[in-house]
Amino acid sequence: MIRRDYLVIGTGIAGASACEGIRKYDKRSSVTIVGAEVSPPYKRWILSKGFLREKDANLKKLQELDERWFDAHKVEARFGTLVTQFNIDRRLAVLANGESIEFTKACLAMGSRPLRPPVAGTSLGNVIYLRTLRDALALREMSSLEKTIMVVGGGLLACETAASLRMMKLKVGLMHRDPYLLNRYLDPETGAWLTDCFARHGVVLSMGEALNGFEGKTVLRNIQTKSGNRFPVGLAVVCCGGEPNLDLVRNTPLAGPHGSPVTEYLETEEKGIYAVGDLAFYPDRVMGGMRRQTHWENARSQGLIAGANMTGKKRIRYEQVPYFWTEMFDLRMDFVGDFSVLPTRVELQGTYAKKKFIARYYQGDKLRGILLCQQTPREVEAAKDQLRQAQGK
Ligand SMILES: Cc1cc2nc3c(=O)[nH]c(=O)nc-3n(C[C@H](O)[C@H](O)[C@H](O)COP(=O)(O)OP(=O)(O)OC[C@H]3O[C@@H](n4cnc5c(N)ncnc54)[C@H](O)[C@@H]3O)c2cc1C
Repeated sequence: MIRRDYLVIGTGIAGASACEGIRKYDKRSSVTIVGAEVSPPYKRWILSKGFLREKDANLKKLQELDERWFDAHKVEARFGTLVTQFNIDRRLAVLANGESIEFTKACLAMGSRPLRPPVAGTSLGNVIYLRTLRDALALREMSSLEKTIMVVGGGLLACETAASLRMMKLKVGLMHRDPYLLNRYLDPETGAWLTDCFARHGVVLSMGEALNGFEGKTVLRNIQTKSGNRFPVGLAVVCCGGEPNLDLVRNTPLAGPHGSPVTEYLETEEKGIYAVGDLAFYPDRVMGGMRRQTHWENARSQGLIAGANMTGKKRIRYEQVPYFWTEMFDLRMDFVGDFSVLPTRVELQGTYAKKKFIARYYQGDKLRGILLCQQTPREVEAAKDQLRQAQGK
Protein backbone atom coordinates (compact mmCIF):
# COMPACT_ATOMS: atom_id res chain seq x y z
CA MET A 1 0.00 0.00 0.00
CA ILE A 2 1.29 3.43 -0.97
CA ARG A 3 0.39 6.40 1.27
CA ARG A 4 0.27 9.98 -0.03
CA ASP A 5 -0.77 13.32 1.43
CA TYR A 6 -2.18 14.43 -1.93
CA LEU A 7 -3.45 12.43 -4.90
CA VAL A 8 -4.34 14.18 -8.18
CA ILE A 9 -6.22 12.13 -10.80
CA GLY A 10 -5.86 13.31 -14.39
CA THR A 11 -2.75 14.73 -16.05
CA GLY A 12 -4.47 17.39 -18.17
CA ILE A 13 -4.00 21.09 -17.53
CA ALA A 14 -6.32 21.08 -14.50
CA GLY A 15 -4.48 18.22 -12.75
CA ALA A 16 -1.05 19.63 -13.61
CA SER A 17 -2.09 23.06 -12.30
CA ALA A 18 -3.41 21.49 -9.09
CA CYS A 19 0.12 20.10 -8.51
CA GLU A 20 1.55 23.58 -9.11
CA GLY A 21 -0.99 25.03 -6.67
CA ILE A 22 -0.09 22.47 -4.00
CA ARG A 23 3.65 22.96 -4.40
CA LYS A 24 3.38 26.73 -4.23
CA TYR A 25 2.20 26.47 -0.61
CA ASP A 26 3.39 23.06 0.52
CA LYS A 27 6.91 22.07 -0.49
CA ARG A 28 7.27 18.99 1.71
CA SER A 29 4.20 16.75 1.72
CA SER A 30 3.97 13.77 -0.65
CA VAL A 31 2.12 14.30 -3.94
CA THR A 32 1.25 11.79 -6.67
CA ILE A 33 -0.45 12.60 -9.96
CA VAL A 34 -1.86 9.73 -12.04
CA GLY A 35 -3.11 10.03 -15.62
CA ALA A 36 -4.27 7.66 -18.32
CA GLU A 37 -2.45 9.46 -21.14
CA VAL A 38 1.16 8.51 -21.84
CA SER A 39 2.32 12.09 -22.51
CA PRO A 40 3.03 14.64 -19.80
CA PRO A 41 0.50 17.53 -19.73
CA TYR A 42 0.25 19.22 -23.13
CA LYS A 43 -1.62 22.08 -24.77
CA ARG A 44 -4.74 20.23 -25.80
CA TRP A 45 -6.21 23.34 -27.40
CA ILE A 46 -3.57 23.34 -30.15
CA LEU A 47 -4.62 19.91 -31.49
CA SER A 48 -7.39 21.29 -33.68
CA LYS A 49 -5.31 24.30 -34.73
CA GLY A 50 -1.61 24.62 -35.67
CA PHE A 51 -0.68 21.11 -34.56
CA LEU A 52 -3.10 19.49 -36.98
CA ARG A 53 -1.98 21.65 -39.88
CA GLU A 54 1.78 21.47 -39.45
CA LYS A 55 3.23 18.33 -40.99
CA ASP A 56 6.38 18.50 -38.89
CA ALA A 57 4.69 19.92 -35.81
CA ASN A 58 7.17 19.90 -32.99
CA LEU A 59 6.01 17.83 -30.02
CA LYS A 60 8.07 20.06 -27.73
CA LYS A 61 5.89 23.05 -28.66
CA LEU A 62 2.92 21.08 -27.44
CA GLN A 63 4.22 20.50 -23.93
CA GLU A 64 2.76 22.35 -20.97
CA LEU A 65 4.78 20.78 -18.12
CA ASP A 66 7.47 18.22 -18.83
CA GLU A 67 8.71 15.35 -16.68
CA ARG A 68 11.56 17.49 -15.38
CA TRP A 69 9.09 19.84 -13.69
CA PHE A 70 7.54 16.95 -11.74
CA ASP A 71 10.99 15.62 -10.76
CA ALA A 72 12.23 19.06 -9.73
CA HIS A 73 9.14 19.65 -7.57
CA LYS A 74 9.16 16.15 -6.07
CA VAL A 75 5.78 15.26 -7.50
CA GLU A 76 5.53 11.57 -8.37
CA ALA A 77 3.99 11.46 -11.84
CA ARG A 78 2.50 8.26 -13.19
CA PHE A 79 1.60 8.70 -16.84
CA GLY A 80 -0.12 6.01 -18.89
CA THR A 81 -1.88 4.74 -15.75
CA LEU A 82 -5.65 4.52 -15.35
CA VAL A 83 -7.24 4.86 -11.93
CA THR A 84 -9.88 2.15 -11.85
CA GLN A 85 -11.46 2.55 -8.40
CA PHE A 86 -11.95 5.39 -5.98
CA ASN A 87 -13.17 4.61 -2.48
CA ILE A 88 -14.35 7.78 -0.78
CA ASP A 89 -14.81 6.35 2.73
CA ARG A 90 -11.43 4.60 2.83
CA ARG A 91 -9.69 7.43 0.93
CA LEU A 92 -8.19 4.88 -1.40
CA ALA A 93 -7.60 4.73 -5.14
CA VAL A 94 -6.79 1.58 -7.11
CA LEU A 95 -4.68 1.76 -10.26
CA ALA A 96 -5.00 -0.43 -13.37
CA ASN A 97 -1.77 -2.22 -12.44
CA GLY A 98 -3.35 -3.35 -9.16
CA GLU A 99 -1.51 -0.93 -6.87
CA SER A 100 -3.47 1.05 -4.29
CA ILE A 101 -2.83 4.58 -3.08
CA GLU A 102 -4.20 5.73 0.25
CA PHE A 103 -4.52 9.50 0.33
CA THR A 104 -5.44 12.28 2.74
CA LYS A 105 -6.68 14.75 0.11
CA ALA A 106 -7.54 14.23 -3.54
CA CYS A 107 -8.23 16.32 -6.59
CA LEU A 108 -10.40 14.91 -9.37
CA ALA A 109 -9.25 16.28 -12.74
CA MET A 110 -10.43 13.61 -15.16
CA GLY A 111 -11.67 16.08 -17.78
CA SER A 112 -14.09 15.12 -20.48
CA ARG A 113 -14.39 12.84 -23.49
CA PRO A 114 -16.10 13.11 -26.87
CA LEU A 115 -19.77 12.23 -26.91
CA ARG A 116 -20.70 9.39 -29.23
CA PRO A 117 -24.00 10.23 -30.88
CA PRO A 118 -26.67 7.54 -30.30
CA VAL A 119 -26.75 6.33 -33.92
CA ALA A 120 -25.47 3.27 -35.81
CA GLY A 121 -21.86 2.97 -36.98
CA THR A 122 -20.06 5.21 -34.48
CA SER A 123 -17.30 2.62 -34.08
CA LEU A 124 -16.68 1.98 -37.79
CA GLY A 125 -13.18 2.49 -39.13
CA ASN A 126 -12.60 6.06 -40.34
CA VAL A 127 -15.22 7.46 -37.95
CA ILE A 128 -12.95 9.36 -35.62
CA TYR A 129 -13.01 11.70 -32.63
CA LEU A 130 -10.56 14.42 -31.63
CA ARG A 131 -9.54 14.72 -27.98
CA THR A 132 -6.00 13.47 -27.48
CA LEU A 133 -2.58 13.80 -29.05
CA ARG A 134 -3.00 10.31 -30.48
CA ASP A 135 -6.32 11.29 -32.06
CA ALA A 136 -4.71 14.36 -33.66
CA LEU A 137 -1.80 12.33 -35.05
CA ALA A 138 -4.26 9.76 -36.44
CA LEU A 139 -6.44 12.47 -38.00
CA ARG A 140 -3.44 14.13 -39.61
CA GLU A 141 -2.31 10.82 -41.08
CA MET A 142 -5.74 9.69 -42.24
CA SER A 143 -6.74 13.02 -43.73
CA SER A 144 -3.79 12.83 -46.10
CA LEU A 145 -5.09 9.50 -47.42
CA GLU A 146 -8.80 10.28 -47.85
CA LYS A 147 -10.34 12.38 -50.59
CA THR A 148 -13.55 13.40 -48.86
CA ILE A 149 -13.79 14.38 -45.22
CA MET A 150 -16.96 15.26 -43.37
CA VAL A 151 -16.92 17.05 -40.03
CA VAL A 152 -20.10 16.28 -38.07
CA GLY A 153 -21.18 19.08 -35.72
CA GLY A 154 -21.26 22.84 -35.69
CA GLY A 155 -19.69 23.77 -32.34
CA LEU A 156 -16.23 25.09 -31.49
CA LEU A 157 -14.33 21.86 -32.12
CA ALA A 158 -16.19 21.13 -35.37
CA CYS A 159 -15.53 24.63 -36.73
CA GLU A 160 -11.85 24.65 -35.73
CA THR A 161 -11.26 21.18 -37.17
CA ALA A 162 -13.06 21.92 -40.44
CA ALA A 163 -11.14 25.19 -40.80
CA SER A 164 -7.78 23.51 -40.19
CA LEU A 165 -8.48 20.66 -42.62
CA ARG A 166 -9.58 23.18 -45.23
CA MET A 167 -6.42 25.24 -44.63
CA MET A 168 -4.55 22.03 -45.45
CA LYS A 169 -6.27 22.29 -48.88
CA LEU A 170 -8.39 19.21 -48.30
CA LYS A 171 -11.93 18.72 -49.55
CA VAL A 172 -13.97 19.29 -46.42
CA GLY A 173 -17.70 19.08 -45.75
CA LEU A 174 -19.42 20.05 -42.53
CA MET A 175 -22.89 18.90 -41.56
CA HIS A 176 -24.76 20.48 -38.71
CA ARG A 177 -28.35 20.01 -37.57
CA ASP A 178 -28.89 23.70 -36.80
CA PRO A 179 -29.22 26.57 -39.27
CA TYR A 180 -25.92 28.29 -38.43
CA LEU A 181 -22.51 27.55 -36.89
CA LEU A 182 -21.74 28.05 -33.19
CA ASN A 183 -25.48 28.42 -32.56
CA ARG A 184 -24.92 27.54 -28.87
CA TYR A 185 -23.01 30.81 -28.45
CA LEU A 186 -23.82 33.24 -31.25
CA ASP A 187 -26.85 35.33 -32.11
CA PRO A 188 -28.40 34.51 -35.50
CA GLU A 189 -26.82 37.46 -37.33
CA THR A 190 -23.27 36.82 -36.15
CA GLY A 191 -23.85 33.11 -36.71
CA ALA A 192 -24.97 33.70 -40.30
CA TRP A 193 -21.87 35.83 -40.91
CA LEU A 194 -19.58 33.10 -39.55
CA THR A 195 -21.36 30.41 -41.59
CA ASP A 196 -20.86 32.51 -44.70
CA CYS A 197 -17.12 32.86 -43.89
CA PHE A 198 -16.85 29.06 -43.88
CA ALA A 199 -18.67 28.79 -47.21
CA ARG A 200 -16.35 31.44 -48.71
CA HIS A 201 -13.35 29.46 -47.55
CA GLY A 202 -14.68 26.48 -49.50
CA VAL A 203 -16.09 24.30 -46.73
CA VAL A 204 -19.09 22.49 -48.24
CA LEU A 205 -21.84 23.11 -45.72
CA SER A 206 -24.89 20.92 -45.11
CA MET A 207 -26.83 22.95 -42.60
CA GLY A 208 -30.06 21.72 -41.01
CA GLU A 209 -29.00 18.09 -41.57
CA ALA A 210 -29.28 15.83 -38.52
CA LEU A 211 -27.15 12.70 -38.32
CA ASN A 212 -28.96 9.37 -38.69
CA GLY A 213 -25.99 7.03 -38.83
CA PHE A 214 -22.69 5.93 -40.35
CA GLU A 215 -22.83 3.17 -42.97
CA GLY A 216 -20.19 0.65 -44.03
CA LYS A 217 -19.20 -2.96 -43.33
CA THR A 218 -16.11 -2.32 -41.29
CA VAL A 219 -15.05 1.05 -42.66
CA LEU A 220 -17.17 4.13 -43.26
CA ARG A 221 -18.75 4.46 -46.70
CA ASN A 222 -21.68 6.86 -46.25
CA ILE A 223 -23.19 9.23 -43.75
CA GLN A 224 -26.94 9.05 -43.58
CA THR A 225 -29.03 12.02 -42.46
CA LYS A 226 -32.45 12.07 -40.82
CA SER A 227 -33.89 13.80 -43.90
CA GLY A 228 -32.90 10.74 -45.98
CA ASN A 229 -29.78 12.20 -47.62
CA ARG A 230 -26.71 10.03 -47.98
CA PHE A 231 -23.20 11.52 -48.26
CA PRO A 232 -20.43 9.25 -49.58
CA VAL A 233 -17.34 10.08 -47.46
CA GLY A 234 -13.99 8.47 -46.71
CA LEU A 235 -13.46 9.97 -43.27
CA ALA A 236 -15.79 11.46 -40.66
CA VAL A 237 -14.62 13.57 -37.73
CA VAL A 238 -17.35 13.49 -35.11
CA CYS A 239 -17.52 16.66 -33.00
CA CYS A 240 -20.89 16.31 -31.27
CA GLY A 241 -19.96 17.65 -27.83
CA GLY A 242 -18.39 16.08 -24.78
CA GLU A 243 -19.28 14.52 -21.44
CA PRO A 244 -17.42 14.61 -18.12
CA ASN A 245 -15.28 11.56 -17.27
CA LEU A 246 -17.15 10.62 -14.11
CA ASP A 247 -17.05 6.80 -14.33
CA LEU A 248 -14.68 6.59 -11.39
CA VAL A 249 -17.15 8.25 -9.00
CA ARG A 250 -20.41 7.12 -10.67
CA ASN A 251 -23.28 6.62 -8.19
CA THR A 252 -21.62 8.77 -5.55
CA PRO A 253 -22.43 12.38 -4.59
CA LEU A 254 -19.29 13.38 -6.54
CA ALA A 255 -21.04 12.64 -9.85
CA GLY A 256 -24.01 14.86 -10.63
CA PRO A 257 -25.95 15.12 -13.88
CA HIS A 258 -23.96 18.22 -14.92
CA GLY A 259 -20.51 17.30 -13.61
CA SER A 260 -18.95 17.04 -10.18
CA PRO A 261 -20.68 19.57 -7.89
CA VAL A 262 -18.24 21.72 -5.91
CA THR A 263 -18.34 24.76 -3.63
CA GLU A 264 -16.86 28.14 -4.49
CA TYR A 265 -13.60 26.75 -3.06
CA LEU A 266 -13.80 23.87 -5.56
CA GLU A 267 -14.27 21.30 -2.80
CA THR A 268 -16.88 18.57 -3.22
CA GLU A 269 -19.29 17.71 -0.45
CA GLU A 270 -16.68 15.19 0.71
CA LYS A 271 -14.19 17.18 2.77
CA GLY A 272 -10.69 17.16 1.30
CA ILE A 273 -11.83 15.96 -2.13
CA TYR A 274 -11.78 18.63 -4.84
CA ALA A 275 -12.89 18.64 -8.49
CA VAL A 276 -11.58 20.96 -11.20
CA GLY A 277 -11.57 21.77 -14.91
CA ASP A 278 -13.94 20.16 -17.40
CA LEU A 279 -15.32 18.04 -14.56
CA ALA A 280 -16.36 20.71 -12.07
CA PHE A 281 -19.91 22.03 -11.74
CA TYR A 282 -19.29 25.17 -9.74
CA PRO A 283 -21.14 28.24 -8.47
CA ASP A 284 -20.40 31.14 -10.80
CA ARG A 285 -19.84 34.04 -8.41
CA VAL A 286 -19.70 36.62 -11.16
CA MET A 287 -22.48 35.72 -13.59
CA GLY A 288 -24.64 33.75 -11.11
CA GLY A 289 -26.00 30.21 -11.17
CA MET A 290 -24.06 26.96 -11.42
CA ARG A 291 -21.81 26.32 -14.40
CA ARG A 292 -19.53 23.69 -15.93
CA GLN A 293 -17.00 25.14 -18.34
CA THR A 294 -15.04 23.03 -20.78
CA HIS A 295 -12.38 25.59 -21.59
CA TRP A 296 -8.65 25.96 -21.07
CA GLU A 297 -8.34 29.06 -18.86
CA ASN A 298 -11.03 27.77 -16.53
CA ALA A 299 -9.21 24.43 -16.08
CA ARG A 300 -5.89 26.20 -15.53
CA SER A 301 -7.12 28.62 -12.85
CA GLN A 302 -9.34 26.10 -11.10
CA GLY A 303 -6.39 23.70 -10.82
CA LEU A 304 -4.17 26.38 -9.30
CA ILE A 305 -6.84 27.48 -6.82
CA ALA A 306 -7.89 23.98 -5.77
CA GLY A 307 -4.23 23.01 -5.28
CA ALA A 308 -3.67 26.04 -3.05
CA ASN A 309 -6.87 25.34 -1.06
CA MET A 310 -5.95 21.67 -0.60
CA THR A 311 -2.88 22.66 1.41
CA GLY A 312 -5.08 24.40 3.99
CA LYS A 313 -2.72 27.40 3.88
CA LYS A 314 -5.04 29.31 1.55
CA ARG A 315 -8.77 29.63 1.15
CA ILE A 316 -9.35 31.14 -2.27
CA ARG A 317 -12.72 31.42 -3.99
CA TYR A 318 -13.02 30.68 -7.69
CA GLU A 319 -14.49 33.88 -9.08
CA GLN A 320 -13.30 34.32 -12.64
CA VAL A 321 -15.43 35.74 -15.42
CA PRO A 322 -16.25 32.81 -17.74
CA TYR A 323 -13.92 32.99 -20.73
CA PHE A 324 -12.71 31.09 -23.77
CA TRP A 325 -11.21 31.80 -27.13
CA THR A 326 -11.29 30.11 -30.51
CA GLU A 327 -9.38 30.37 -33.78
CA MET A 328 -10.66 29.44 -37.23
CA PHE A 329 -9.17 30.49 -40.58
CA ASP A 330 -7.99 34.10 -40.13
CA LEU A 331 -10.32 34.74 -37.20
CA ARG A 332 -9.58 34.90 -33.50
CA MET A 333 -12.64 35.24 -31.31
CA ASP A 334 -12.72 35.75 -27.55
CA PHE A 335 -15.89 35.03 -25.59
CA VAL A 336 -16.20 36.77 -22.23
CA GLY A 337 -19.20 36.13 -19.96
CA ASP A 338 -22.29 34.00 -20.28
CA PHE A 339 -23.39 32.85 -23.74
CA SER A 340 -25.70 30.07 -22.56
CA VAL A 341 -28.89 32.00 -23.32
CA LEU A 342 -29.62 33.85 -26.58
CA PRO A 343 -29.37 37.62 -26.09
CA THR A 344 -32.49 39.75 -26.30
CA ARG A 345 -30.37 42.57 -27.79
CA VAL A 346 -26.95 42.78 -29.47
CA GLU A 347 -24.91 45.95 -29.68
CA LEU A 348 -22.35 45.79 -32.48
CA GLN A 349 -19.24 47.96 -32.50
CA GLY A 350 -17.22 47.55 -35.73
CA THR A 351 -18.28 45.58 -38.78
CA TYR A 352 -18.62 41.97 -39.92
CA ALA A 353 -17.28 42.98 -43.34
CA LYS A 354 -13.90 43.96 -41.84
CA LYS A 355 -14.00 40.89 -39.56
CA LYS A 356 -13.16 43.18 -36.64
CA PHE A 357 -15.86 43.89 -34.11
CA ILE A 358 -17.08 43.69 -30.54
CA ALA A 359 -20.62 42.37 -30.00
CA ARG A 360 -22.20 43.03 -26.62
CA TYR A 361 -24.93 40.59 -25.63
CA TYR A 362 -27.71 41.86 -23.37
CA GLN A 363 -30.54 40.15 -21.50
CA GLY A 364 -32.97 43.01 -21.18
CA ASP A 365 -30.81 45.87 -19.89
CA LYS A 366 -28.16 43.64 -18.41
CA LEU A 367 -24.87 43.06 -20.19
CA ARG A 368 -24.22 39.28 -20.06
CA GLY A 369 -21.58 38.54 -22.68
CA ILE A 370 -18.97 40.25 -24.86
CA LEU A 371 -17.75 38.65 -28.06
CA LEU A 372 -14.52 40.11 -29.39
CA CYS A 373 -13.39 39.37 -32.94
CA GLN A 374 -9.77 40.24 -33.83
CA GLN A 375 -9.19 42.34 -30.71
CA THR A 376 -6.14 42.69 -28.46
CA PRO A 377 -5.56 40.93 -25.10
CA ARG A 378 -5.93 44.33 -23.46
CA GLU A 379 -9.45 44.67 -24.89
CA VAL A 380 -10.28 41.19 -23.68
CA GLU A 381 -9.21 42.13 -20.14
CA ALA A 382 -11.23 45.36 -20.38
CA ALA A 383 -14.26 43.28 -21.42
CA LYS A 384 -13.84 41.11 -18.29
CA ASP A 385 -13.79 44.26 -16.11
CA GLN A 386 -16.83 45.67 -17.88
CA LEU A 387 -18.77 42.47 -17.30
CA ARG A 388 -17.84 42.37 -13.62
CA GLN A 389 -19.04 45.93 -13.21
CA ALA A 390 -22.25 45.21 -15.10
CA GLN A 391 -23.01 42.37 -12.64
CA GLY A 392 -22.18 44.67 -9.71
CA LYS A 393 -19.03 42.62 -8.74
C1 LIG B 1 -9.02 19.72 -29.83
C2 LIG B 1 -9.41 20.64 -28.72
C3 LIG B 1 -9.27 22.02 -28.89
C4 LIG B 1 -9.61 22.89 -27.85
N1 LIG B 1 -9.47 24.25 -28.04
C5 LIG B 1 -9.76 25.09 -27.04
C6 LIG B 1 -9.64 26.50 -27.20
O1 LIG B 1 -9.29 26.98 -28.28
N2 LIG B 1 -9.93 27.30 -26.16
C7 LIG B 1 -10.33 26.81 -24.95
O2 LIG B 1 -10.58 27.59 -24.03
N3 LIG B 1 -10.47 25.48 -24.75
C8 LIG B 1 -10.20 24.60 -25.76
N4 LIG B 1 -10.35 23.26 -25.57
C9 LIG B 1 -10.83 22.75 -24.27
C10 LIG B 1 -9.67 22.57 -23.28
O3 LIG B 1 -8.59 21.94 -23.90
C11 LIG B 1 -10.19 21.77 -22.09
O4 LIG B 1 -11.19 22.51 -21.45
C12 LIG B 1 -9.07 21.45 -21.10
O5 LIG B 1 -8.07 20.70 -21.71
C13 LIG B 1 -9.66 20.69 -19.91
O6 LIG B 1 -8.61 20.32 -19.07
P1 LIG B 1 -8.82 19.23 -17.94
O7 LIG B 1 -7.49 19.04 -17.32
O8 LIG B 1 -10.00 19.56 -17.10
O9 LIG B 1 -9.25 17.89 -18.72
P2 LIG B 1 -8.48 17.03 -19.81
O10 LIG B 1 -7.61 17.88 -20.64
O11 LIG B 1 -9.56 16.23 -20.49
O12 LIG B 1 -7.56 16.05 -18.97
C14 LIG B 1 -8.10 15.01 -18.19
C15 LIG B 1 -7.10 13.88 -18.13
O13 LIG B 1 -7.57 12.91 -17.19
C16 LIG B 1 -7.34 11.62 -17.73
N5 LIG B 1 -8.24 10.65 -17.08
C17 LIG B 1 -9.59 10.53 -17.21
N6 LIG B 1 -10.05 9.53 -16.44
C18 LIG B 1 -8.97 9.01 -15.80
C19 LIG B 1 -8.79 7.94 -14.86
N7 LIG B 1 -9.82 7.23 -14.40
N8 LIG B 1 -7.53 7.68 -14.45
C20 LIG B 1 -6.47 8.38 -14.89
N9 LIG B 1 -6.58 9.42 -15.77
C21 LIG B 1 -7.81 9.72 -16.21
C22 LIG B 1 -7.61 11.79 -19.21
O14 LIG B 1 -7.01 10.74 -19.94
C23 LIG B 1 -6.94 13.15 -19.46
O15 LIG B 1 -5.59 13.01 -19.76
C24 LIG B 1 -10.06 22.36 -26.62
C25 LIG B 1 -10.23 20.97 -26.45
C26 LIG B 1 -9.89 20.12 -27.50
C27 LIG B 1 -10.08 18.62 -27.31
